[in-house]
Amino acid sequence: MPIGNYIFKLTKRISIFGSTGSIGQNTLDLVRRDRHLYQVVVLTGGKNIEQLVKDSIEFHPEVVVTAYPDLLDALKTGIGDLDITVAAGDNAILEAADRPADWVMSAIVGVAGLAPTLKAVAQGTVLALANKESLVAAGQLLLREAAKSKTKIVPVDSEHSAIFQALLGEDINTVERIIITASGGAFRDFSQRELEFVTPAQAQIHPNWSMGQRITIDSASMFNKAMELIEAKEFFGLPETKIEAIIHPESLIHAIVGFNDGGMMAHLGPPDMRHAIGFALNYPGRKKINVARIDFKNINQLTFSEADEGRYPALRLAREVMRRGGLWGSGFTAAKEIALDRFIAKEIGFLDMVKVVELTLNNLDRLGVLSNEPKILSDIVNVDQEARQISRMVNV
Ligand code: NAD
Ligand code: MG
Repeated sequence: MPIGNYIFKLTKRISIFGSTGSIGQNTLDLVRRDRHLYQVVVLTGGKNIEQLVKDSIEFHPEVVVTAYPDLLDALKTGIGDLDITVAAGDNAILEAADRPADWVMSAIVGVAGLAPTLKAVAQGTVLALANKESLVAAGQLLLREAAKSKTKIVPVDSEHSAIFQALLGEDINTVERIIITASGGAFRDFSQRELEFVTPAQAQIHPNWSMGQRITIDSASMFNKAMELIEAKEFFGLPETKIEAIIHPESLIHAIVGFNDGGMMAHLGPPDMRHAIGFALNYPGRKKINVARIDFKNINQLTFSEADEGRYPALRLAREVMRRGGLWGSGFTAAKEIALDRFIAKEIGFLDMVKVVELTLNNLDRLGVLSNEPKILSDIVNVDQEARQISRMVNV
């Protein structure tokens, strides 16, 4: 490429997978503010065709994809005669992940995000990773692929963005511990007896953060924090013993890194994902982002309490997954997704979700399928499918 093209390359080509979701919409909000700096390459969504069409009209991507083939006609009708390629289905999402982009946001929810994320890391550019399930199910595989192509993965989960920022310029070998905070979710003050009877409608309201339905329920059950412990182990390559969770109801400190000289770096920010998304979007630089700031005059106190593994058995399971390694993370995420589906469908109770996951992992362990190290995507897909089958059937 002639030097001139570098000098005059003013726009960043960006693709957003899961653009209609909470993270996707927050990303587009930041892009909208500096529209002239970005060329949108890909937008993908699921069932919310109205949002996908609205954003396509505004951001004019090269290609727009819905995950659902039966919604292709509706999407085509909405796009009309705009010069945008319209497609549907999992393969179309994979093809879109191959389109050259300087920056890719991985914000599909669930293990469905893994295959497109793996495709996107082959590009050798920057991958903003919100889809924590990719790291939990296939951390080592994903990092290996990223290393091969020299893709820089920048975590978007607020706690992991916080750790990443606290580690800038530091040597990972000097890290003694990392502590990620948990708000405690919707039911942090509920008794065990009250927890038994909570409904999906109650669980999908978060006290501090505005997020998608699934991650909000996962926050209430502490499965979100369980996933984040595993995510931290995979991404930062630290042993399980150095990774802790703590309850911090104000959600202002997102993570703390403790170094071997006793010093600690805490990362603070208001509970607004646009900080972490904006950091990833501008990485390796920083740019002014006009979103809320913490006003310390209005904060009386920051409180912390133990994240008790007795009260939150999902955290105990996460420890087991971290200790065992191999394909335990794949089994864990898949079983958790089905347990969550079953809770949303009111087929099982709130406290039954963790039982479904534990029984599924025990079954898979007995079958001896979890101890291998995943080498290729199909290793993960096989365990994922088996875990889904078992967790659909286990009685609790
Ligand atoms: P969401 O439910 O609001 O949006 C999910 C997106 O994925 C939507 O665009 C949806 O259409 C798409 N999608 C759903 N199922 C799909 C499928 N089978 N195939 C393809 N696309 C599909 O979720 P969210 O809250 O934006 O979260 C997205 C990811 O980011 C999750 O992995 C979540 O854990 C992570 N995350 C979210 C937040 C947050 O504040 N929302 C914070 C940290 C991490
Ligand atoms: Mg988080």
